[in-house]
Amino acid sequence: MHSQQTDQKLFSFELFPPKTEEGMEKLKTQVRKLARVNPLYVSVTFGAGGSTQQRTFQSVEWLVSEGIEAAPHISCISSSVAEIVQLLNRYKEQGIHRLVTLRGDLPSGTGLGGRGELNYANELVALIRREFGDYFHIEVAAYPEFHPQAANARADLNNFKRKVDAGANAAITQYFYNADAYFRFVDSCEKMDIGIPIVPGIMPITNYGNLSRFSDACGAEIPRWIRKRLEAYADDVESIRAFGVDVVSELCRRLLDHGAPGLHFYTMNQSAATLKIWDNLGLTE
Ligand code: FAD
Repeated sequence: MHSQQTDQKLFSFELFPPKTEEGMEKLKTQVRKLARVNPLYVSVTFGAGGSTQQRTFQSVEWLVSEGIEAAPHISCISSSVAEIVQLLNRYKEQGIHRLVTLRGDLPSGTGLGGRGELNYANELVALIRREFGDYFHIEVAAYPEFHPQAANARADLNNFKRKVDAGANAAITQYFYNADAYFRFVDSCEKMDIGIPIVPGIMPITNYGNLSRFSDACGAEIPRWIRKRLEAYADDVESIRAFGVDVVSELCRRLLDHGAPGLHFYTMNQSAATLKIWDNLGLTE
């Protein structure tokens, strides 16, 4: 893999909007700790089903008030074009310049059907470019282990290229624990003349049950040797955390050493594991 050309390494953090006031207060404490290491931006997820959309907006508003560059996630699966354009205008008024642009997933069991007019993220990227020109910096999702609904690996790569051709500036990957899947993915992209930075998404390991559930749903593989060790720790939370920090720090080191343009941490609204990994990488100034 060749080093992807960027002037500076792209380090960013991801949050989800809390459901309660108490959750929001806890989040503020965690974000203030994370902000001390000067990430390029902090992104906030968006519930395609509708429940978290207002909370995404409020969390972004708070980040802006703290002087932190915020990047809202936006999805198209359950919104009309008019609703999307209205939301983007609100973000523009807030001074937001960066978006994480997705198709989205509908929450299971809600009975909500996709009522969006746009079916795929490439159509959303095209809409944003048509309506807002180059105003927004657009990040899209990439899947080194391939999206679970993709017909096959080749089709998924072609679909990723559609988003790039529609005007995406950069990509963030689904999390993975197998660095070779990422290196192969980036190699394939280079062969397809995809030149945008593809930033690895990093999921710290702190809780085996949650990680296992997420991974089954999103198609990220937990290698057997990691799974077996985590299972053996059972309820020994301290050992899980220590092992998780070790494994993920090593993964990040390998990715950066081999040319990854940065790292995007799925913080799960917690600062401790991310900051330990950050320290292990010697990124603290
Ligand atoms: P797409 O790029 O549209 O791809 C979806 C599937 O359709 C793939 O299998 C692809 O191969 C196929 N496909 C794409 N384009 C076409 C086409 N034109 N024709 C035929 N097939 C096509 N979800 C949320 O709900 N909220 C969030 O905030 C959120 N944040 C995320 C952040 C990151 C960094 C990542 C990696 C994922 C995030 N997700 C989020 C999950 C994401 O919404 C899901 O993975 C979703 O299933 C796919 O979104 P996408 O933008 O990759 O879709």
